[in-house]
This record gives sequence, C-alpha cells and structure tokens, in this order.
Amino acid sequence: MPEHLFERVAIIGIGLIGSSLAYAIRKHGAARTVVAYDRVPDVRSRAMALGLAEHVEDNAKAAVEGADLVILCVPVGAIAAVMEDIAPHLSKGVIVTDVGSVKHSVVQDVMPRLPSDAQFVPGHPIAGTENSGPEAGFAELFEERWCILTPEGVCDDVATEQVAALWQRIGSSVDIMSPEHHDLVCAVTSHLPHLIAYNIVGTAADLEEVTKSEVIKYSAAGFRDFTRLAASDPTMWRDVFLNNKEAVLEMLGRFSEDLAALQRAIRWSDGEALFELFTRTREIRRGIIQAGQETDEPDFGRGLRQHQTGPASKITNS
Ligand code: NAP
Repeated sequence: MPEHLFERVAIIGIGLIGSSLAYAIRKHGAARTVVAYDRVPDVRSRAMALGLAEHVEDNAKAAVEGADLVILCVPVGAIAAVMEDIAPHLSKGVIVTDVGSVKHSVVQDVMPRLPSDAQFVPGHPIAGTENSGPEAGFAELFEERWCILTPEGVCDDVATEQVAALWQRIGSSVDIMSPEHHDLVCAVTSHLPHLIAYNIVGTAADLEEVTKSEVIKYSAAGFRDFTRLAASDPTMWRDVFLNNKEAVLEMLGRFSEDLAALQRAIRWSDGEALFELFTRTREIRRGIIQAGQETDEPDFGRGLRQHQTGPASKITNS
C-alpha cells in the first residue's frame, strides 16, 4: 500500500459524496484514519453499521479535532453554518476542502470564518448519482472522473497540491480554474440540464391528469431520461440555484433564445435547420463517449446496470 497522504481525515456530512469519499480514501490508503460526522443521529448509526469510517463521531468538534484534512460534504447553503461550528476546533495548519457544486459563494462563505493558520482548497468532484445518503456511497464513484479545484486567490500551492494528490489517489484527474469560471462551466454542463429536467418532469406531472398515466407508461420514449436528473436531492439543488444565480440566469437567457429559434424552425417547417442542429448534437454525445465520460451500451447501459450491485457508476451528475 502506498504512503498515507494525510494522518486523520474528517468528513463532515455523510451523504452520497461524504460516504463515497470515506470508502475511497480507505480503499486507497490515502489517510491513516478516516472519521466522519453527520448532524442526524440515525445517519450516524447507519454509517457506523456500514463501517465506512474508522470512527463516526457524535459531534463536529470531536470529528475535526486533530484532523490534518477536513472535507465539507454538505449542501452549499449549509457551508457557512458548518464552518462557524467547526472553526474554533480546527487544528493548527489544517487544510479544509469541500465538494460543493458551486465555488464562488462557497469561497465567500468559508474564507471569513477560516482561522488564519488554516488553508482552504475549494473543490468539486464531477461525479455523482441521483441517490442520497450513506447507503448510496461507493468507493469507485470518483474513478476516471474529473475533480475541479479553484485555489486562485484562495490558498497556497502546497495545500492545493496536497488536495490534488488525494483526488488523484482515489482515481480522479484534477483540473484547476478560477471559482467564477467553474461556476460558468457548471451552469452549462450541470445546472442548466438539471433545471430543464426539473421543469420537464414538473410540466409532465401537471399534465398527468390529462394524459391519465400515459406519461409513466410510455416514459421510455425519452421522458424517463429526464426523470433521473429530476430525482436528484432537492436540498442540494435548491442551494445550487440560490448560490449560482448569475451564471445560471445568463445561461438560461441563452437557452431561451436557442429554444425560440427551434420553435421558429418547427413553425416554418425549416427541416434543414433542425437536421443541422440534431447532427451537431449527436457528435457531442459521441465525443463524450470517446472521452470515457459515458457508456455506449445500448439504452444507456440500463440492461448492464441491472446486474450491478451498487448505483450506476457510469452516470455522472455534479
Ligand atoms: P446528500 O447525499 O443529500 O448528503 C448531504 C449531506 O449534507 C448529508 O450528510 C446531510 O446531513 C448534510 N446536510 C444537509 N443539510 C445540512 C445542514 N443544514 N447542516 C449540516 N449538514 C447538512 O448529498 P450529496 O450528494 O452527498 O451532496 C453533498 C455535497 O456534494 C453538496 O454540496 C453537493 O453540491 C456536492 N456534490 C454532489 C454531487 C451529486 O451528484 N450528488 C456531485 C458533486 C458534488 P443529514 O443526513 O443530516 O441530512
């Protein structure tokens, strides 16, 4: 087993990402000890029963004391309160990092609360599923996935390299960018697609009365692929939209314009415009498969995944 990168890693929030990190860090021997904490006693008991960390502490203070790395795995709207709670108990020289899907607001929330002898390395693994809670976690979640770090103007190079080494150890590739650029990129690749999915599924649910269950019955025609995204954790996604307002609204404006152009093409029977767009979009999917970020199994690998025990490891949310 290679050398440990950290002595004691404290994971705050034992949901999908927190539990997957605990499993992955232990699987790859990236830390001597992994401790975890969740605010809900029942979640702590379940985490203990799953054996995902060496210790599951019953308060945040006990979890972070003595840790040389603290990973915040809570919704982005909860980061400020969690920092208030843990800041007085952080060890000298500790590195704090996070996994939040928005970066600019998280930096704003963490930095004023961070002790002066600590470093904060903002992070976001581009890996996930629509499932939540400790039972959803699995060690392979981050393998062959990207993790984005946004250290610009926030932390020093040594801390960034240490956190990058952790993600690389558990199978991810690391990319570095500014928090603002991260938020713009994710608004396009993740936040807007989720918003569209929530909207389509919401509209279909409203029409359910009219269609008399046919929406569910014939969902394989395309609708069900949106329902996977729209099943994602409501707290997490509420917080993403409230904390990445500007970038999402900018992308939404652009999306609405393009949708209006499609509407016009249909109205005026402009088959050429439709065909040209659909040909371009097909190429984009091929590119994603070639980059190893999706399966080319028929039916999105659904048949294959039915035989797997864990959640679909090929599916990526962020
Ligand atoms: P999850 O499975 O729903 O877990 C969320 C965790 O945060 C739970 O431990 C929950 O505790 C805790 N939490 C919720 N509200 C809290 C509060 N107000 N104070 C303290 N703890 C609170 O969600 P997740 O998918 O692991 O998401 C965690 C973070 O990862 C989020 O910041 C999200 O943006 C980011 N992320 C998610 C994905 C994804 O696909 N899911 C991908 C990349 C990054 P309780 O059990 O007590 O409710």
